[in-house]
Amino acid sequence: LQEGELERLRAQFPVLAQRIHDAPLAYLDNAATTQVPQSVLAAMNGFEQHDRANIHRGVHTLSQRATDAYERARAGVKRFVGADASHELVFTSGTTEALNMVAQGLSVSGEAPAVIRPGDEIIVSGLEHHANLVPWQQAARRSGATLRIVMPDVQGSVHIDDLKRLLSPRTRVFALTACSNATGYRPPYEDLLALAADAGALTVLDAAQAVGHSALQLGTLACDFMAFSAHKMYGPMGMGALVGRRATLERLVPLRFGGDMVDWVTLEGAGFTGLPARLEGGTPHVAGTVGMAAAATFITAVGHDRLEQHLGALREHAAKGLQRIDGIRVLSPDAESSAIVSFVASDVHPHDIGTLLDEDGIAVRTGHHCAQPLLDHLGVGPTTRASFAVYNTHDEVERLLAGVSRALKVFR
Ligand code: PMP
Repeated sequence: LQEGELERLRAQFPVLAQRIHDAPLAYLDNAATTQVPQSVLAAMNGFEQHDRANIHRGVHTLSQRATDAYERARAGVKRFVGADASHELVFTSGTTEALNMVAQGLSVSGEAPAVIRPGDEIIVSGLEHHANLVPWQQAARRSGATLRIVMPDVQGSVHIDDLKRLLSPRTRVFALTACSNATGYRPPYEDLLALAADAGALTVLDAAQAVGHSALQLGTLACDFMAFSAHKMYGPMGMGALVGRRATLERLVPLRFGGDMVDWVTLEGAGFTGLPARLEGGTPHVAGTVGMAAAATFITAVGHDRLEQHLGALREHAAKGLQRIDGIRVLSPDAESSAIVSFVASDVHPHDIGTLLDEDGIAVRTGHHCAQPLLDHLGVGPTTRASFAVYNTHDEVERLLAGVSRALKVFR
């Protein structure tokens, strides 16, 4: 991104124009949540101010407009992730709900027996956010299946051969993240998913940390289910999606039974409607879907290639600079086209580093990043994590490096 263009982009994010502890805000906590541009705010406000009504049942004009807005948003987000006619998209409250929808939907019985049965195996990687681990622990417990973990090596990388060894005719599901939120490492998920699919497993991709900058083309992935959140792609919080093959989404027992997902109801029972409504019981966050689609439009306008290039350059700048500081270990230092840099400093707790950086107006995240098993495996414990978005600058990276050096001097 050119200098002038970056400034123009940055000006679209009102939250960034403030000072924190008398310093300009350097917001480097984008893996937790990104900020929202004016176009997304305007789209959501426009809906709330002109078109707000409940969807799908109304004959009145506002209800029809709201239904149109909702279904247009669905079409927009589907296009954004390369879904084709064989795919469907279900709106959720985020990645967590989407992953629970899959793990629970495959492990409880509905009109048909549960897809995951006693003696089956579920494989997840050792990189996963708790949201792509705990639901599978629960699914295994519920169904009498066994949970197996394909562990990364001591550097935090996952290898094809290790997955090969675990796959068997008993493997029912393989679930994997497209990018570790704790280290920034990106596993070769295209190959890993293809291998698992060839072995007959249903495949699940947690795209939460990829959707904000990588062009995800569902049609080219061996992926039955993909989950992501709007708030990590410049959209609203409490909004997300589960997208996948129609045929496999149809096998999920709904997580939420209630209005809008039934064909008929008697006092004794109910018949359920088809996708996507079948998995969207209750009134959805319609403004959220409108905002999510506007966020997808924003990313498309910037361009995935330029976005990845910009974030990769910021990450490399930060990783190299941090490695030059005495006693700092950067996790997955060579992670390609990642927007996350995570590190530990000998003798200084991440919480102290984060607190001092905040005094300089720099927002980073510290702790286990909801990926405690991975950090335990790497032998590092809590880390400090800086993560980048379209509006971040190399000047902010320099401030981060100076701030970390200052923190180490203070606390050592
Ligand atoms: N998976 C990954 C890799 C994540 O980084 C996150 C959010 N930190 C989640 C899942 C959960 O997303 P959400 O909280 O939006 O449901």
